[in-house]
Amino acid sequence: MASATSSSLLLSSVFGCRFGGDLRKGRGGRSGCRTLVRPVCRSAEDVVVVGGGIAGLSTAVALQRLGVRSLVLEQADGIRTGGTSLTLFKNGWRVLDAIGVGSELRRQFLEIQGMVVKSEDGRELRSFTFKDEDESQEVRAVERRVLLETLASKLPADAIRFSSKLAKIEKDEQGETLLDLEDGAQLTAKIVIGCDGVRSAVARWMGHTEPTYVGHCAFRGLAYYPDGQPLQPRVNYIYGKGLRAGYVPVSPTKVYWFICFNSPSPGSRITDPSLLKKHAQELVKGWPSELLTLIDQTPDETISKTPLVDRILWPAISPPASTDKVVLAGDAWHPMTPNLGQGACCALEDAVVLAKKLAQALKSSPASDSSVEDAFKSYSKERWPRVFPLSLRSNLVGSFLQWDNPIVCSVRNNVILPKVVQLGPLLEHTNFPCEPL
Ligand SMILES: Cc1cc2nc3c(=O)[nH]c(=O)nc-3n(C[C@H](O)[C@H](O)[C@H](O)COP(=O)(O)OP(=O)(O)OC[C@H]3O[C@@H](n4cnc5c(N)ncnc54)[C@H](O)[C@@H]3O)c2cc1C
Repeated sequence: MASATSSSLLLSSVFGCRFGGDLRKGRGGRSGCRTLVRPVCRSAEDVVVVGGGIAGLSTAVALQRLGVRSLVLEQADGIRTGGTSLTLFKNGWRVLDAIGVGSELRRQFLEIQGMVVKSEDGRELRSFTFKDEDESQEVRAVERRVLLETLASKLPADAIRFSSKLAKIEKDEQGETLLDLEDGAQLTAKIVIGCDGVRSAVARWMGHTEPTYVGHCAFRGLAYYPDGQPLQPRVNYIYGKGLRAGYVPVSPTKVYWFICFNSPSPGSRITDPSLLKKHAQELVKGWPSELLTLIDQTPDETISKTPLVDRILWPAISPPASTDKVVLAGDAWHPMTPNLGQGACCALEDAVVLAKKLAQALKSSPASDSSVEDAFKSYSKERWPRVFPLSLRSNLVGSFLQWDNPIVCSVRNNVILPKVVQLGPLLEHTNFPCEPL
């Protein structure tokens, strides 16, 4: 890339959108101006991020802090307002601090002190305090909506283009990347960062396989207590046979819960949330009343069911994270099961590592295509040893927790969990040093 181009990337306003109007909706909401008819047109961009989820928005914010503007294409017509909550460990918080949103988020979400594990009859098997294991540990469950809105609020008004679903990606003769959107619009991008989640079109184009269903599904919900929720600030897990549940207070009025159950297939997609609630209640009938009350207290529209999938990045088999000047981050690259609570944390880590390397390459003199490609290779080299074992471990932990054989479950609940498991080594993966950008 010529140095003139690179300087235009830095602190510049390169996004002369040639679409027929402002397609961006009101931040975090469903209001705002929007053109009704969008002409098929072409626009040239320097850095395009595909997907405005956690990876996409945090990458755009990190790049912006380093003086690089990007355009985020998001298929939805606004910031995702649904969804429940995510538990972020200290590695996630280090990144949120580094990109300048940690304190704002911290104020809204409770710090979780520890963890308690129970059997389905309510018997306590084990309890831990996070700070006893690691003084620097920080655990909070954050509402996904608030996290996304906070990240989006740090970007300029024209940096996210909603209702912009990537349909097709290809290379042109000049080595630039053509992005065809579902509505017929086309963009040319010099650099593409694929943050389009588990079903990533960018990853597919790069030769990655579809993620694999791991044999269990999760119900999730966000219970609401307008007069204040009654729980202690700790993560609660209940382990049954082929079935487990968990819940954790998010804020003074909200509690996140999940139920994970074995199922030979992902099953049909159910959109009626009252049916989802009913199914969730049936699964844990007779389990501790605290959990059942939480489900009762949950507004139907916050309940969802997700088949759990992953894609393990086997050495020498999996395609790399980048092809030329197209690179993947977050679930688009390494979809992992949520058993370690690390998918979003790793997406955040990707964002800062990638942004630093890309900004450095664009600032190098002279900036060139090869410096960007080298930056992406270096990102992949640094991140692969981190995300490969985590995805694998997450998968194995899921199998261990979803055992359904009564004898094996009894050994797990009466021997392994109470006497063998040490939390400290289990959470070592949450160490991630990260300087402010
Ligand atoms: C049940 C469950 C519980 C979880 N709990 C935790 C937890 O406690 N802690 C944790 O750290 N992680 C957790 N995770 C993982 C976490 O949700 C993901 O790792 C995280 O959302 C990844 O962020 P992302 O931005 O890569 O992908 P996503 O959040 O999926 O965002 C992708 C974005 O790209 C957009 N998009 C997709 N395709 C296109 C396209 N073609 N064109 C344009 N836009 C597109 C989507 O609309 C979306 O906005 C959990 C996951 C599940 C399933």
